[in-house]
Amino acid sequence: MLSKLFEINEVDLEEVKFPGISTSDFKIFVLRIDKLHREISGNKWFKLKYNLIEAEKLNHKTLITFGGAYSNHIYAVASAGKEFGFDTIGIIRGEEYFPLNPTLQFAVDCGMKLFYLNRAEYKNRNDKAFQEKLKIKFDNPYMIPEGGTNQLALMGTEEIVNHIKTNFDYICTACGTGGTIAGIISSLKGEKKILGFPALKGGEFLENDIRELVTERSSQSYNNWKLITEYHFGGYAKIDISLINFINEFESINSFKLDYIYTSKMFYGIRELLKQEYFSKGTKIVLLHTGGIQGNKGMISKVNNLLKNNY
Ligand SMILES: *Cc1c(COP(=O)(O)O)cnc(C)c1O
Repeated sequence: MLSKLFEINEVDLEEVKFPGISTSDFKIFVLRIDKLHREISGNKWFKLKYNLIEAEKLNHKTLITFGGAYSNHIYAVASAGKEFGFDTIGIIRGEEYFPLNPTLQFAVDCGMKLFYLNRAEYKNRNDKAFQEKLKIKFDNPYMIPEGGTNQLALMGTEEIVNHIKTNFDYICTACGTGGTIAGIISSLKGEKKILGFPALKGGEFLENDIRELVTERSSQSYNNWKLITEYHFGGYAKIDISLINFINEFESINSFKLDYIYTSKMFYGIRELLKQEYFSKGTKIVLLHTGGIQGNKGMISKVNNLLKNNY
């Protein structure tokens, strides 16, 4: 069953346009890993791949993981559990609300059992003793950290660049926990340039996390990467009218959608860098579409409120 994880079709590389920018001096492509699977979207597929294989190897029947109520990772784990025959448990940050939001409703429909922790309790999620307690309570599940980032996740995200069938100078990705960019850094071994766009405020902290992940994975550290930390729009899942306007303009001249939480912030940042002439002429840039479209349903009321207050 898990052999399906190795049967990836060719991943599309599409040229993109940026609103208000003449891109004739550049080649800008988007690697559409968001299209790999309808639910285990984008980078989550690569992050889960070797974790699922490990869980099966160790004979675990259940996967347990952590996330916020709108988490793409929770959504992906729930879907993967259903598809590959694992029971799933989601430890959700915050209180339980009804009706469930679309992300959590989907998770429950996939068979995931949800447990809620208040914000103080949730802070213990990476604590070893706390995790041991969970393992006992839930009969020894395979534990996947929040956001899916661990060394096995890097083994998967290292494979992303193999799908780029053209020469390029830069590869760019949105960042949450940094597992995706860390895999890309370790796979490129100092070649090319890599830009990460944290979707959270305080992206500077992430730099250390990424460095540690890369060093643990490859016993090397590299300097051909950089975080562009100013396009977080106030923090995780925060948006404003300029981001919404950008998304609408972008989608009107390209053939695919962006998500509000991750990819749109990176694409916005790329447009700003293009405006600032950050890239020299002739540069070939690959942008990773890491998926996340499912989360847009949970953002609709926020978007509508912002639009209402601006017209
Ligand atoms: C989870 C997610 C990310 C962040 O990936 P990390 O490996 O945690 O940095 C980026 N984009 C999308 C769409 C995601 O769902």
